[in-house]
Amino acid sequence: MAVRDAATGVELGRVPCSGGQEALEAVDAASSALGDWSARSTTDRATVLGSIAHALRARKDEFAAIITAENGKPLDESHGEIDYSADYFLSAAQEAIRLAEESIPSRNPARSLAAIPEPIGVVAAITPWNFPLAMLARKTAPALAVGCTQVVKPAEQTPLTAILFAEVLMDAGLPSGAFNLVTGDASAISRAWLSDGRVRKLSFTGSTRVGRLLMHAAADQIVRLSLELGGHAPFIVFRDADIPAAVAAAIAGKFRVAGQTCVCPNRFLVAAEVYEQFVTRFVAAARALPIGKGCEPTTRIGPLISDTAVARVRAQVDDALAKGAKLLAGGATVPVTGCLDRFFAPTVLADASPEMLCFQEETFGPLAPIAKFGDEAEAIRIANATPYGLAAYAFSSDAARLDRVSRQLHCGIVGANTGVISDAFAPFGGCGWSGFGREGGRWGLYEYLSWKYVCTATRVS
Ligand code: ADP
Repeated sequence: MAVRDAATGVELGRVPCSGGQEALEAVDAASSALGDWSARSTTDRATVLGSIAHALRARKDEFAAIITAENGKPLDESHGEIDYSADYFLSAAQEAIRLAEESIPSRNPARSLAAIPEPIGVVAAITPWNFPLAMLARKTAPALAVGCTQVVKPAEQTPLTAILFAEVLMDAGLPSGAFNLVTGDASAISRAWLSDGRVRKLSFTGSTRVGRLLMHAAADQIVRLSLELGGHAPFIVFRDADIPAAVAAAIAGKFRVAGQTCVCPNRFLVAAEVYEQFVTRFVAAARALPIGKGCEPTTRIGPLISDTAVARVRAQVDDALAKGAKLLAGGATVPVTGCLDRFFAPTVLADASPEMLCFQEETFGPLAPIAKFGDEAEAIRIANATPYGLAAYAFSSDAARLDRVSRQLHCGIVGANTGVISDAFAPFGGCGWSGFGREGGRWGLYEYLSWKYVCTATRVS
């Protein structure tokens, strides 16, 4: 399969188009390696993870060039992704060392009770293209830390990052078979893994549509799942918010990876009292973002990943305009010399309302629809009026309000007075149609563990 530069369409390289048979060969290798890897001491495994973290940072420029080429994001963002990925290895290594058998106080003196964490076994991961390295890191690090072995399929748009990642793992001393990469036919590969019986868990990050398919397919062999799916994040600005700070956070959160992250603010809800002020400043800041190839040092907005992605953003803009929204910035693609027509200008729509598509579906592009609200209860009602529940953002100078609102929002992650929430040491994940399971910190390890409860008679009764 050809892998193409996201900005220019130029072929960067080719990777194998594997199917079910290669997928099962990967499971054979992971199964053979499982006994040795899971029997090693946690400190041995943590030492390998530490070397991986170090190697990822040491090869930062190489990774950044590949991520920016195949994904399109600005180089600065690629650098940030590499640090974030290395942190997942640090976090998993530290937490695995802390993880211990637990002895449970028993009300019956004739018995002692223990809970023993065990690796689930061979685990699978299927990852998306928007964070080609970080989405691998947050699945691979905890799996390896607790003694699982892994089979992985990266997104078809970004396999070159995954191949370099595999090289780093091997160089860092990971034994052969502990990590296995398969590129190719997504549905044939996942079907092979989910029907095999040896794969005991699948961690998936991607669309809600594919998440549903995988959940059905996982039923036959009762495969455990973590699903990190689409989001539809509200970004609420209360009347007592610091408006310049809220605008800066809105720009940072909304336009990262050109709006192609599952935690990007998707709906802006602004208190009537500060609506004009927020909109004016936000439009000026959005218009000022430099658009171009990710490899140019000044670029803040790179290309969208595909023509389909461009068409989806365009359809949401057209739908909103037909339903009464006001276009204040962007609204179309802009030409970039020598590049594909995939550079969508940061777009701001005022007077958005719940019947518009952009207020019902994830955009995954640089579109910011803004609606006005009256009081706190109304903001929460609009924010929660969606089956999705990944991230939400709230801005206020009143700590009590932020606390109250954070607890009432239906979602897995809240950014309170910040638009950038990712941290490898914290639990990342959603609820509802955004999926379940957590990645990062000790919560990330639990996804790869099975707890065995042992009840021992201390005297014969
Ligand atoms: P997006 O639309 O953002 O590309 P997808 O959910 O389609 O999101 O893709 C995320 C990952 O899921 C990619 O690795 C892709 O290859 C994989 N994928 C797509 N379709 C299927 C499928 N039917 N079964 C398993 N994996 C799939």
